[in-house]
Amino acid sequence: MSGETPDLYQKRQSIFPRSVKGRFRNLKWAILAVAYGMYFLLPWMRWEREAGPDQAVLFDLVGRKFYLFDLVVYPQDIFWLAGLLMIGAYLMFFVTGLAGRVFCGYFCFQTLWTDVFVFVERLVQGERPARIRLEKQPWNAEKIFKLGLTHLLWLVVALLTGLTFTIYWGNAPELVVDLATGNAPFPAYATTLFLMSTTYVMAGWAREQVCTYMCPYARFQSVMFDRDTLIVSYDQKRGEGENGRAKLGKENKTPEERSALGQGDCIDCGYCVQVCPTGIDIRNGLQIQCISCALCVDACDTIMDKMGWQRGLVGYSSQRVEEGGDKAHFLRPKVIGYFTILIAAMGLLVWSVTQQAPFDVGVSQVRQPLFVKLSDGRIQNSYEVKVNNKTGKSLTLTFSVEDLPGAELDMGKFQTVELRPEQRLRLMARINLAPEKFDGKSRHIEFIATPKNTTLQPVGHESVFYIPGR
Ligand code: SF4
Ligand code: SF4
Repeated sequence: MSGETPDLYQKRQSIFPRSVKGRFRNLKWAILAVAYGMYFLLPWMRWEREAGPDQAVLFDLVGRKFYLFDLVVYPQDIFWLAGLLMIGAYLMFFVTGLAGRVFCGYFCFQTLWTDVFVFVERLVQGERPARIRLEKQPWNAEKIFKLGLTHLLWLVVALLTGLTFTIYWGNAPELVVDLATGNAPFPAYATTLFLMSTTYVMAGWAREQVCTYMCPYARFQSVMFDRDTLIVSYDQKRGEGENGRAKLGKENKTPEERSALGQGDCIDCGYCVQVCPTGIDIRNGLQIQCISCALCVDACDTIMDKMGWQRGLVGYSSQRVEEGGDKAHFLRPKVIGYFTILIAAMGLLVWSVTQQAPFDVGVSQVRQPLFVKLSDGRIQNSYEVKVNNKTGKSLTLTFSVEDLPGAELDMGKFQTVELRPEQRLRLMARINLAPEKFDGKSRHIEFIATPKNTTLQPVGHESVFYIPGR
C-alpha cells in the first residue's frame, strides 16, 4: 500500500443538456406552463368577499387567517394541514410505487425551475456544443457578455420567484409598491432575498446535485420501487444484439445488415446522454441520478424515427418486463393499499372542510371562585364564552344551556349577540341553580349557540356546572 489517502472529493462536471423535441418534452412544457401560470398569477387574482381582503389566495399571518378563495382557514383548523401532509405523502407513495420518480421528472420545483434556467442558458449561449465551447474558451469579451447576461437573467427569474412567494403573505399590489419604495417590513425583504438566492443557487448552480445529493426523497424512493414499478430503461437485448452497439457505417445501415453482423439497434449516437439533465447514460441501467424525465426517450425516439426503425429502444418499462415478463402488473396489494388510504384521507379532508361550522363557540369555566352561593341560596357558576363568526356575513346568535334542568342562564345584555362578518367576541355568562335542584353532584352541561334567521345549525360546547357537596 502506498499509504496515500485517495481524493474523496470530485469536482462537479458541468452538464450542458441538449434540447430535444418529443411527446414527453411537450408534456413537461405544458406542466411547466400551468405550474408557472398558477404560481405567478394567483396572488394577483382578486376575489369578492363581503368581509376580508379581495385577494383570492392570501396567507394573512397578522390576522391569523389563510384565505383560499371562499375558504377561510383559522389556526384551529391546523389539523387540515396535517391532513394535507398525509395526502401529499400517500400520493407520493402511490405515484412512486406505480410510476417511479415521475414527480421528480415532471412536477418537482427543482426540475421546473432548472428547466427554465437551462432554457435561458440555451437562449443566450446557444445549443450544447456552443455552451461547451464557451466554457472551455479563455475569458474574453464574448464569454463575459454571454455568461454575464445568463446570470443576470437567472437573477431576474430568481427575483420574480422570491417576490411572488412574498406577496402571497400580504396584499399583493400594495406589497409590491412597498417593496419597491423601501416601505415594506423587514421580513418581506428577508423572505424575498432568501427565496431569490436559493432559487438562483439551486436552479443555476447546483441543479442535478440537489436531486442526487440533497433531496431526501431521492434517497428513500427506492424502498417504494418493486419489480412492476415503471422505470425509464434501455432495451439492452435490442440495442446491443450479440456483438454490442455500433456506430453507423457503410455496411451496417439497415436492421438486416446490423443483424447479420450481430449488432443491435443502438447506433451509439449519444443523443440520449446529451439530453439528460443529470448527465447519465441510461444504457448503463437504472441509476440513482435518473429522475424519470423521459427526455432520453424522446431523444432515442427521434433517432429511431430518422432511421425509420421502430420506437421504444429507450422507453418506460419495468423490472419484470426487463426480466422477460410479459407486462407490468399495476394492480398490486401495495399500490391498492396506498390508493385506498389516499382516497380515504382525501374524502375525510373534503368532508371536514365542507362540514366546517360557520362559527365557533368556546366555553371555559371561571375557576376562581369555582362557585358563588347567592343570598337566596342559589349556586352560581361563571363562564367565559368566546364566539367567532367565520363567515363573510353578519350573524345573530342566541344562547341556551342543556343538561341542567332548572338552570337560569344570565348573559347580561348579551342574551342575543350580533356578530359582524369575521368578528370574534368574548362574553361573560353566569348560570344560577336553585337549591331544590341540587343533587349534590357536579354536572356536565352544554352551551348551545343558535343562529337566528338562517338555516345554519346550532353549535354546542361542553362544560361543567360545579355543585358543592352538602
Ligand atoms: S436517464 Fe433519461 S429519464 Fe433519467 S434523468 Fe436522464 S434523461 Fe431523464
Ligand atoms: S439515442 Fe438511442 S440510438 Fe442513440 S445512443 Fe441513445 S440509445 Fe443508442
